[in-house]
Order: sequence, then C-alpha cells, then structure tokens
Amino acid sequence: MSTIQEKNFTQDLLTKLDDIIVDFVAPNAARIDREREFPRENITELGREGFLGLIIPQQLGGLEAPLSLYKETVIRLAQACASTALVYVQHMSAVSILLYGKENDYIKNILSNIGKGQCLTTIALSEAGSGCYFFLPVSQVNETDKGLRLKTNKIMVTSAGEADVYVINSKATFAKNSMQSNFFAVASEYNGIEVGGKWEGMGLRGNQSAPLTIDTYLNKQMLIGEEGEGFKITREALLPMGQIGISAVNIGIAKAIYNESVNYVKKRFYTHINTNLSDFQSIQQMIGEIKVLCDQAETALNVFVQRMENKEVDMVSTLEVKVMACQTVLQVAELGLKVCGGHAYSANTPIERYIRDSMAGTVMGPTPDVLKELIGKIVLDVPTQL
Ligand SMILES: Cc1cc2nc3c(=O)[nH]c(=O)nc-3n(C[C@H](O)[C@H](O)[C@H](O)COP(=O)(O)OP(=O)(O)OC[C@H]3O[C@@H](n4cnc5c(N)ncnc54)[C@H](O)[C@@H]3O)c2cc1C
Repeated sequence: MSTIQEKNFTQDLLTKLDDIIVDFVAPNAARIDREREFPRENITELGREGFLGLIIPQQLGGLEAPLSLYKETVIRLAQACASTALVYVQHMSAVSILLYGKENDYIKNILSNIGKGQCLTTIALSEAGSGCYFFLPVSQVNETDKGLRLKTNKIMVTSAGEADVYVINSKATFAKNSMQSNFFAVASEYNGIEVGGKWEGMGLRGNQSAPLTIDTYLNKQMLIGEEGEGFKITREALLPMGQIGISAVNIGIAKAIYNESVNYVKKRFYTHINTNLSDFQSIQQMIGEIKVLCDQAETALNVFVQRMENKEVDMVSTLEVKVMACQTVLQVAELGLKVCGGHAYSANTPIERYIRDSMAGTVMGPTPDVLKELIGKIVLDVPTQL
C-alpha cells in the first residue's frame, strides 16, 4: 500500500469506528455498567465492520491494519465504554496467539470466521495456583487414549459464556515446569467446559470475567503452534499485544476522566461567591496535571507501538508501557475525584464509572508491581523467567 492509500484506509476505519461509538458504544455504556450486561450489540457492530479481524493478515480474511490503528481503536472504545474495550482487547490478545497456528486448518478456519465478524474469542489463562502470573499455568495436559486430558479451573475469563472460542493454556504433556506450556483453541460449546459463576467485579461490569471449569479431552488439532511452545508465544505475541491493549484501555479511561473533569469544572458555578470552579488556581493546576499525565502515558504508548511496528522493542520497554498507563489512570482518577467532588462520588455518573473501571489494570496480570520487579531484575542482571 502507498502512504496515501494507507492514510485513507486508516481514516475510513476510524470514521466507521467513530460511527459505531456514537450510535452504539456510548449510548449503551451506562446501561451495560448498571445492568452488568455483556456488550453484545457493540461487539456485533465491531465485527460487522471487520474490527474483530483488525490485525489478521488479509490472506487469512482480516483487515491487516497496523498496530497503531489497533491502539487507537482501543483508546477510543475505552473512552466510551471500558467494558467493551476490554472484551475487544482480550479477543485481540487471543488472536495474536491464534496467528501462531495459522498453518493448521482448524485454526485457519477460526481466523477466517473472526475476519467475517462471526467469532469472538478470549484468553482463558489465569488459575488459582498462579494467580496474576497467568503465563505460568499449573494445570497440565496428559496424553490418554481418549485424547489430551485437561482438568483445570480458570479463575477470571473475560467474555466467559459469551465468547465462541477460548484460548486456554496448560503445561505441556512432557513439562517439568510451567514454562513448558501449550495454548489450545477450544470452541465454547465443546464438551466439558462450563462457566462456573458470575462476574461481580467493582468495575468493568459488562465484562463477564467469570470462572471456567474445564474437564475435557482435547485433540491435537486444537494445539496452537508446537507442543511446549506456549512460553515463546507468550513472550513474542501475547505479552506485547496484551501490553498495548491494556495500556490503551487505561489511557482511554484516563482521557474520559479528563474530558469529564474539564466539562464539570467549566460548568460548576458557586452562586454564593459569584465564582466558577475553573477560577480557582489549584483547580486549574489539577486540570493541567491530569492533561500532562494523560499526554505522557499516551506519548509513551505511541512511541512503543511505533517501535514495535519497526521491530525495535526490547523487553524493558515492553514491560514499562503498561506500568506507566496503569499508574497514570490511578493518579488521574484521584485528581478527577478531587475536582469533580460529590458529582464523581455519586453512583451512576459517568465519572464514577470511570473511577471504578480505572482500578482493574492494577490487578490484571502481569500486574504493574510484578512488572516493576521484572524490570528491576533485568536492570540488575538478576535472572527472570521472561
Ligand atoms: C477485569 C478483569 C478481567 C480479567 N480478564 C482475564 C482474562 O480474560 N483471562 C485471564 O486469564 N485472566 C483474566 N483476569 C485475571 C487477571 O489477569 C489476574 O490473573 C487476576 O486478577 C489475579 O488475581 P489474584 O487474586 O489471583 O491475584 P494474586 O496473584 O493473588 O495477586 C495479588 C496481589 O499480589 C501482587 N503480587 C504478586 N506477586 C508480587 C510481587 N512479586 N511483588 C509485588 N506484588 C506482587 C499482585 O500485584 C496483586 O496485586 C482478569 C482480571 C480482571 C480484574
């Protein structure tokens, strides 16, 4: 594609995305949060315009868009509805893993259905045994004459009961440790996979991050890539894709808090002193600080994505980018609460939803605290598992 064709392609897709956001994602957002409703209509519309296959190569039925467009899509979705954005991010993280199996007809068919907007997927990785270290599964598949036996519980699976395909990890048949792992692509209606509860989280309430109970026999065509290749796939595909996605969700939430704070401060008028809230210097500074924080985190993510597109990233910058976004959104949420006061604390205002949504990045694996420890280990030349 020439540079002009590329620009038109990107612009066309962003226009379609903005239409979906205005017509569906934004009007549905408060209800999705209030009713803990899965954002089905939003995902259907995104699928209809090809966004579920955004990063899939054209020859496999996708749009083959650049990562910068993926990042922008997630930021815009998260500004309107972070639940929808996270469902989309976990889907795309699963897609990044599925692309490792593109030589296998079963996986190729899944990718083609995703490109047609007919398949939503997700990652079912976290287990009680390894918690936020979801890339180090404790469960193991065993070879039996009925197939590969897998018995495990996944503790929080975004889109549980809603996705068409789960990407599930476990230790390989021969594994001596959790780094020798596998990824499998399994249809949600496959025998022996049950949703084990409801999502009752503080924020991202439309997300359905529920447990999955798995007691089944898998077959070899469901294996993504080679046996034991799971950790390599995590390092090369899932980790960078997940870091971009979760960072973009949190930057989108931070920008939503910024917009809401500016609107509130401009409108709030004190009749008793005939003064606007925006006239106070400390409020002006807090708004300035929110702006700087949002711009810093977004710039860092833009630079990271550009370096990824140029294949120039190193492990430290891959780990750093999500730490920055997750720290930023918490700082912005605190400032947003201060400048918007009771309005921000009251239930069912958009900013109250954004503040609840801002907490999830801190507990989602690999968590910022775990990432900082890993960065410290790399800097200090202490061995890590990455
Ligand atoms: C909204 C949401 C959506 C999710 N979606 C998915 C999904 O789609 N698929 C999936 O597989 N999982 C998903 N998860 C699960 C998530 O990725 C984590 O695995 C899960 O939140 C870990 O919970 P835990 O209670 O076991 O954490 P724990 O592992 O018990 O961690 C508890 C705390 O200890 C801290 N901690 C751990 N080690 C260290 C250390 N070395 N130094 C300092 N602090 C440390 C952690 O930072 C964390 O804050 C989701 C979680 C949420 C909240």
